[in-house]
Amino acid sequence: MADSARQKRYSEASTRLKLLAHPERLQILDTVRRSSQCVCHLEVLLGKPQPYVSQQLRVLREGGLICDEKDGLNTYYCVCDLGVRAWLDTILGPAPTERSHPLAGCSCPKCTAQKPPIEWVLAASL
Ligand SMILES: [Zn+2]
Repeated sequence: MADSARQKRYSEASTRLKLLAHPERLQILDTVRRSSQCVCHLEVLLGKPQPYVSQQLRVLREGGLICDEKDGLNTYYCVCDLGVRAWLDTILGPAPTERSHPLAGCSCPKCTAQKPPIEWVLAASL
């Protein structure tokens, strides 16, 4: 490998490690590597204000660790790079398999979709 290519690789790895050395960012990555999530879901999960969560998401996206996809009015974040997935598997262990929706107190589209329809709740209470 040419010296300049090697230097570039070291510099990229170092940037990535700096991004990973942060508990909240690791929690975000651990969540979005399972399934894509929107900002409001991560906000409830982390218990942090939206501007803070958005800022961490922006840093992670600019660092190439996550990508975003639009679905209607919502933006979902996910880990799309297989190399990043492999890093996270090494650092955090295999991705958790328990269900991530619905999350108590969260009204994001995914959590709302997982709630039983109101008719069922009413029928069950009769
Ligand atoms: Zn949610």
